[in-house]
Order: sequence, then C-alpha cells, then structure tokens
Amino acid sequence: MVYDDDDTRSWWSKDTVVAVTGSNKGLGYEIVRGLAKQGLTTVLTARDPARGLTALQTLQAEGLDSVHFHQLDVTDTDSVKKLAAWLQKEFGGFDILINNAAVQKFSQVYEDAQETLETNYFGAKTVTKELFPLLRSASPAGARIVMVSSQNGLLRRFENNYVKSKLRVDAQQLNEDIIDSVATKYLEDVKTGRANEEGWAPNGYQYSESKLFLNAYVRVLAGSLRNQPKDCPIFVNSICPGPIDTDMAAGYLKKMGLDRTQVRGLVSAEEVSKAVISLALLPRDGYPTGKFFTDGHEIAF
Ligand code: NDP
Repeated sequence: MVYDDDDTRSWWSKDTVVAVTGSNKGLGYEIVRGLAKQGLTTVLTARDPARGLTALQTLQAEGLDSVHFHQLDVTDTDSVKKLAAWLQKEFGGFDILINNAAVQKFSQVYEDAQETLETNYFGAKTVTKELFPLLRSASPAGARIVMVSSQNGLLRRFENNYVKSKLRVDAQQLNEDIIDSVATKYLEDVKTGRANEEGWAPNGYQYSESKLFLNAYVRVLAGSLRNQPKDCPIFVNSICPGPIDTDMAAGYLKKMGLDRTQVRGLVSAEEVSKAVISLALLPRDGYPTGKFFTDGHEIAF
C-alpha cells in the first residue's frame, strides 16, 4: 500500500468530500492537509471551535481553499447530528469518513477509562452511525470509512480469556451488542479495581481496550456491509499509523519519563498521514474491507 503523489489511478475530484474527526491538530490535521493538497473537498472538524478555526486559517493561509470547518465533539450526539445536517445541506452527502479523534489517558481511574471508551470507541461508532446515511455509496468509487486505530488493540495481544472468546476473530455471531457488553464489563472491572486480575490490556491503560472494541466494530460493520448492493459498496477498515510525533505521543513519553530523542521510530504526523490518505484513496477495484493495516500492509486482528 504505497502512497504516490503522481498516482495516475486518481479517481477523485473536488466534488469528493471527506470528513475527518479530531483534525485541529496532530495526525487528523495532516490528513486534512494532505487530502486538500490532493484536490478533495475536506471537512476539518474539532470539538473546540476556536482550535478548529485556527487550524482552518492556517490551511487557508497555505492556499488550501477546499477545506471547510465544522464543530464536532464525537462524544456529543447532538454535535454529531448537527454535523450530519450541515454535510447534507452543504454538499448533499459525502464520500469518505475518517474517524481519527481519540484520547489517551495514563491512569486506571474509572472516569478516564469511561472518557477513553466514550471517545475512541462509542464516539467513533456514533459518528459512523449518524453520518452513515449521507455516505455516497452509489458513486463510482463507493464510500469509504477509515478507523484510525492502534496495534495496542489487536485481539491477539490480550490475555483475557473472556475477551478472547467473546470477540474472537472467527466468531460468526459477533455483533455490536456483544462488543458493547464486553466494553461494559471492562468498565465494571475498572470501577471495582479488578482490571488487572481480569487480565485486561497488557499495559493496563484503557486506550488499548478502546481500540480493541473499535477493531471488533470494524469487523462487525464490514460483515453487515457485505450485504450492500454491489453497485453501492461501503468499505470499512482499521489502520494503525504507528508512533507519531504528536501531543498524544508526547503524553506517553512524559508518562514514561522519556523525551523524543530517546525514542526511535517516532514519525512526523505529515509523513504518517500519507498512509491513511493512501488507504482512503485506493482505487475501487480490489478495495479491501474489514481489514487491519499497518506499515502499508494488512495484518491479522
Ligand atoms: P492528538 O492527541 O495529537 O490529536 C487527537 C485529536 O482528537 C485532537 O484534535 C483532539 O482534539 C481530538 N479529540 C479528542 N477528543 C475528542 C472529542 N471528544 N471529539 C472530537 N475530537 C476529539 O493525537 P494523534 O494525532 O497522535 O492521534 C490521532 C489518531 O492516531 C488517534 O486515533 C490515535 O489513537 C491514533 N494513534 C496515534 C499514535 C501516536 O503515536 N500518536 C499511535 C497509534 C495510533 P483537542 O485538540 O480538542 O484535544
């Protein structure tokens, strides 16, 4: 999966509309920037309007006029519905959704676990569901949903037998209710101080669980979307961008008592955004769905 600025297989135009969650900074911002440079119409969203407008102005100062801004807090259903109504009014729909917004906390405090799941898993789900009817699946390229995830949330990294059996990759019966019930059990275990003994994420932080549930949701959603009419496909995939030099990574380094120079492999958000953009813009023929990508190739959940 190689990104190429001169890719002659380009299928998009300025009428191709992309919405990116959590894009006032970090990876989301660079995804918006890269897509706008490719000539797509791009919707930058931010929970804080001031931060969002500042980001918009910076991009406009670069001459990127195809970027628009709308407020979006992924944990606030009302905010998500307002974005949906605006996308409908402004563009009559849209083509690509990139669920990028996330938080990473460094505690085992219940409120932090709750916020992390509300943002990274339930929030991404709310956005997907509310915006889903606006996806222009009948367009020649089909519609695409990209979940920015993490290898920390790969099922095979979890020791917890309950999770392994409930969310297992070959589970025919896996559905959203099951994922939600596992998420609820996880929060209960955090609340009652049993998260460690119950064998939740190896590093003990809620971030891994939030991405585990997000990845499971991708598999379920992709499964249900296989019933879409052949000429109206909606593809959904997870991607792990790897370690990025952003505020999120800075928080992690601080927690570990490290600075940037002590960590190898931290890549700039601009560089990493190319992989996400590449996945979002792959040609229709052979477009994957229900897969997990990292370092430019698919790996098992
Ligand atoms: P940043 O912390 O730099 O940016 C996160 C973005 O999400 C910000 O714009 C933030 O807004 C936004 N956000 C947080 N909560 C909400 C919310 N409730 N509603 C809307 N937006 C919200 O993180 P990165 O750019 O590093 O991360 C981007 C993605 O990449 C995430 O999904 C992350 O999990 C993933 N990732 C990151 C890695 C890394 O090393 N950094 C590694 C692997 C995956 P605000 O400015 O208001 O806080």
